[in-house]
Amino acid sequence: MEDCIFCKMVKGEIPCRKVYEDTGFLAFLDINPQAPVHVLVIPKKHVARLSETGDRELLGSLLSIASAIAERENISGKGYRIVINTGREAGQTVDHIHLHLLGGRKMNWPPG
Ligand code: AMP
Ligand code: ZN
Repeated sequence: MEDCIFCKMVKGEIPCRKVYEDTGFLAFLDINPQAPVHVLVIPKKHVARLSETGDRELLGSLLSIASAIAERENISGKGYRIVINTGREAGQTVDHIHLHLLGGRKMNWPPG
């Protein structure tokens, strides 16, 4: 999609610090990290938000890629959090579905 910042990363028009890539997905470091490990996992295909897809394969891949990255980043043992902000009230600021993988510190509950 033309004006989507994450689509521009997929196309290589905006730089990002990649941690994983395959034919359908990309993962990169969040520019404003909220934890020692803060990775965003996105599908290369533009989907605006969770509520706009029923693609189980795509959604399952987001989770399994995040889980593999958590292993590689050595945060699996202590624990990590996965967040998908969906819509304005939840704090979604980029309209291209993305999964936040957060770890490396103690998380609070409930989230703010
Ligand atoms: P959300 O608020 O759930 O929509 O998350 C969007 C995330 O994208 C935020 O955590 C931002 O810090 C992150 N972000 C925005 N622009 C960039 C960028 N150019 N590179 C990496 N992360 C970004
Ligand atoms: Zn996009």
